[in-house]
Amino acid sequence: MITIEGRAKINLTLDILRTREDGFHEVAMVMQAVGLADTLTLEKREAPGIGLVIDVPWLRANEKNLAYRAAKLMQEEYHLPGGVAIHLTKRIPMAAGLAGGSADAAAVLRGMDALYELGAGDEKLCELGARLGSDIPFTLMGGTMLATGRGEVLRRLPDFPETYVVLAKPHVSVSTAWAYGAYDAHPAERHPDNDAMIRAIEAGARRKAASFLCNVLESATIKRYEVISKLKEMMKEAGAFASLMSGSGPTVFGFAETREQAEKVAEAVRLPDVDVFVTKTVGCNTK
Ligand code: ATP
Repeated sequence: MITIEGRAKINLTLDILRTREDGFHEVAMVMQAVGLADTLTLEKREAPGIGLVIDVPWLRANEKNLAYRAAKLMQEEYHLPGGVAIHLTKRIPMAAGLAGGSADAAAVLRGMDALYELGAGDEKLCELGARLGSDIPFTLMGGTMLATGRGEVLRRLPDFPETYVVLAKPHVSVSTAWAYGAYDAHPAERHPDNDAMIRAIEAGARRKAASFLCNVLESATIKRYEVISKLKEMMKEAGAFASLMSGSGPTVFGFAETREQAEKVAEAVRLPDVDVFVTKTVGCNTK
């Protein structure tokens, strides 16, 4: 049996460069892993197949689940004998801009690799992961990365200096497809300066890096979900030194200097319709 964590991510930047012929958007984003994670346990079974059990009622344990699809892909790719039983403890909110599904898929890919002693290696796992979703290679690697292409082409950056992160997920679901569609209808005027962000990270300059937080999907999404700008403002008023919408939203994150300050920020945004988490940035999975 093996137990493995699937960590959430936040976007320090998200830029859209163009729409490709295949319909995907060409992106350039600086991604950061955080401590908020789902826990997956994997166990070999003699009988073939995949048994998936999830501890929450709001996520279906069917063959569309990314944890299931990742297990199936590994079984097929490596002609694995027998079956596998997966137990998923779900903590990352769904359709939140935190890549929760991708994190689960990445954990299953790594878990199956370890369970069957396949020695697949990062490159192979990332190639398999990219077949299931553009964010999966990042969630396999973790840390701080520049992601380009559809999000699957990674360049490792030095780990972002350890920082407290408050996550606020309002009770609205924003599908990634909707957010990109809204962007296409109302492209953003402000784009991130990824080079400046990367220089600040390389210099270990946390405050400076925070000044370059920027997500082109934010303005179109905020038009429909005002709560996002409200949460950003509330976080800053409570002492967060920066805040931004993550990915395609609606989760807003804020940076805090200390645990006390992070708790204060969390308290400020703990509204009836908002799920709040206090976590930290986390360095690369494989050093
Ligand atoms: P991203 O930031 O990559 O756009 P997200 O945080 O917005 O991701 P996810 O939580 O990854 O969104 O889920 C998006 C969709 O994937 C949901 O509609 C859900 O039905 C599906 N899904 C499949 N498997 C999972 C899983 N294990 N956990 C969460 N969602 C899953």
